[in-house]
Amino acid sequence: MKWEKLFEPIQLRRLTLPNRVMMGSMHLGMEGSKDQEDALISFYTERSGDNGPGLIVTGGISVSPEGDGGHHFLGFYREDDLRVMKRLTDSVHEANGRIAAQLFHAGRYAYSQMNGVPSVAPSPIKSPIHREVPEELTEIDILNLLESYAEAGRKAKAVGFDAVEIMGSEGYLINQFLSPRTNKRSDKWGGNFDNRTRFAIEVLKSVRNAVGDDYPIIFRMSGLDLVPDSSTPEETIQLAKKLEEHEADILNIGIGWHESTVPTISMMVPRAGFIEPALKIKESVNIPVIGSNRINDPLLAEELLYKLDMVSMARPFLADANLLAKAKGQALDQINTCIACNQACLDHAFEGKAVSCLVNPRAGREHKWTIKKADKTKTVVVIGGGVAGMEAARSHAELGHTVTLYEANEAIGGQFNLARKIPIKKEFDETIRYYKTELNRLGVQINVNHKPNADELLAHSPDLVVLATGVVPRLPVIPGIKHAIPYPEILSGNGEVGKKVIIIGAGGIGCDVSHFLIEKGIHDILLLRRNGKMGEGLGKTTKWAMLQDLKQNGVTFRTNLSYEEITPEGLKITNSETGKQEFLEADTIILAAGQESNIPEEYEDLSQKGIDIAVIGGARLAGELDAKRAIYEGAKIAFEPETISVQ
Ligand code: NAP
Ligand code: SF4
Repeated sequence: MKWEKLFEPIQLRRLTLPNRVMMGSMHLGMEGSKDQEDALISFYTERSGDNGPGLIVTGGISVSPEGDGGHHFLGFYREDDLRVMKRLTDSVHEANGRIAAQLFHAGRYAYSQMNGVPSVAPSPIKSPIHREVPEELTEIDILNLLESYAEAGRKAKAVGFDAVEIMGSEGYLINQFLSPRTNKRSDKWGGNFDNRTRFAIEVLKSVRNAVGDDYPIIFRMSGLDLVPDSSTPEETIQLAKKLEEHEADILNIGIGWHESTVPTISMMVPRAGFIEPALKIKESVNIPVIGSNRINDPLLAEELLYKLDMVSMARPFLADANLLAKAKGQALDQINTCIACNQACLDHAFEGKAVSCLVNPRAGREHKWTIKKADKTKTVVVIGGGVAGMEAARSHAELGHTVTLYEANEAIGGQFNLARKIPIKKEFDETIRYYKTELNRLGVQINVNHKPNADELLAHSPDLVVLATGVVPRLPVIPGIKHAIPYPEILSGNGEVGKKVIIIGAGGIGCDVSHFLIEKGIHDILLLRRNGKMGEGLGKTTKWAMLQDLKQNGVTFRTNLSYEEITPEGLKITNSETGKQEFLEADTIILAAGQESNIPEEYEDLSQKGIDIAVIGGARLAGELDAKRAIYEGAKIAFEPETISVQ
């Protein structure tokens, strides 16, 4: 691949960026925590350098106390945070990287209980995703805030940031001023379009005054709010023009407010599915424009760069710190691609936990999981080529150990081989491709279609055997169970499915199977569980979009019942609320009733032979079968061997 655009430098005032990729702002959940300071600095430093993103933008750094986004945010108004910022910029510069500070104010999205001061907004209107009614800003408050932005800009420059990004999208304070949905003021800061844009423009002017003429200012503006009664497409273009007129150096186009009910970055959104607004803005201004959302592949980035000046890729750098170095070195197959699952990044951020990555658990742990060859080379045998086993093999090999991997099926990939059949989970292919490439590159000996017996294992004289033998689907005890089909058969295309379907089990897999069937044109689907809610266990950022999609496609759900009997014609249940029996007709009944650990008997007494055994992933704990934990455990036993529990 000959890169024409990706590695073309771009000049922003005094700053030269060596390529056209910005690592977009992400809240990491490590900011402002003393314990996580080293983790935060190592995270950004690892992503810096000649072949790192042209520019990194930090997570939002609050310009004033009431604008904090919650726990673990940095603030320009806290002395000690300025010390951390200086350490951060020094470390990034030492690694030859470039980093911009995001000037942030949450407005009505702030939590007064966490911040200890009431939240504020242009008008006292509560957000639908929030309990608090913010206080209306007075004219004096607004003028003070402009000074806070200016002060933040001055401090950002003083502590060594190479640029600032003014956060004006995603429904935060500046966006709240811009939108008629949230700005009902009748003074000069609200009402008509000019008045609503006044705050954004005054912030830009104050920051420009503070940082001087040679310093780059990025303005992150919303290209599409995706909430009712908000800015119009015409207003969005007008705003971009005004920002250009008032000396923004580059426009970074955000999509969707946090309170929007339209999924914008989940796996179900096609790659670059929201690029249109950035293209429209690009046609209307002469300053550079950055496109964002679901751009996870350098080839796609290159294509977009024929129409845009830069692309923003945030989560893809969580998944692979060396994404651009690999692209430059023509090693695209080695890229660990972000699959847009949100499970270890956004879901963690919403839970107030430090961010990491499902496909790269080293993200956020770079300071303690250093990659250096082990002093003593171990012989490691991994049994099971699902994600837990593949990661255990990969990370041991990366640390210089000799690794053999056995997989009973004809291909490695485990549950991901099933998940990739779900229409919205095509990205899982990338993870399987990544592991295949890496295991080969690192010299892991892979044996497929083979279940070694204990003697074969002993013949390796292993220092460590990793049992990553995964799970088997649970077959509940229900009379007539033989008439039901376990979900793996359906997903691998071996089971016949009629027009009217019942799925027993309404967890993540039940929802996935529903998507699979919808794609095949089957819409009469009833998801059942005995107690509880549909889709329990799915991450916060994915669940609502997934359930909304299923509902829109006619999938129905019932709970509070017990299963009595499965027949070729359907399912007999008892309604636990009425105590009455009912017969639910169905052509096909599918079992998605969870999984059970799979540890074949032949391995059970291995530990008595004096070998270190580690059981990981679904084999260790099927109840919470989840890819995030499985991959994490695979890496952990390599990077923290002292934590291996000998079984
Ligand atoms: P799950 O989420 O634990 O759901 C299992 C379902 O089976 C439940 O609805 C449960 O409902 C039912 N069940 C359990 N024991 C049963 C029994 N003896 N008889 C009948 N029904 C029974 O498991 P899963 O759907 O297999 O998913 C496995 C894991 O993968 C979960 O952690 C899930 O979150 C994860 N996953 C995640 C995604 C994602 O997109 N993030 C997608 C797929 C899977 P009742 O007990 O109430 O009947
Ligand atoms: Fe991407 Fe999922 Fe990793 Fe987040 S956790 S960076 S969405 S692969």
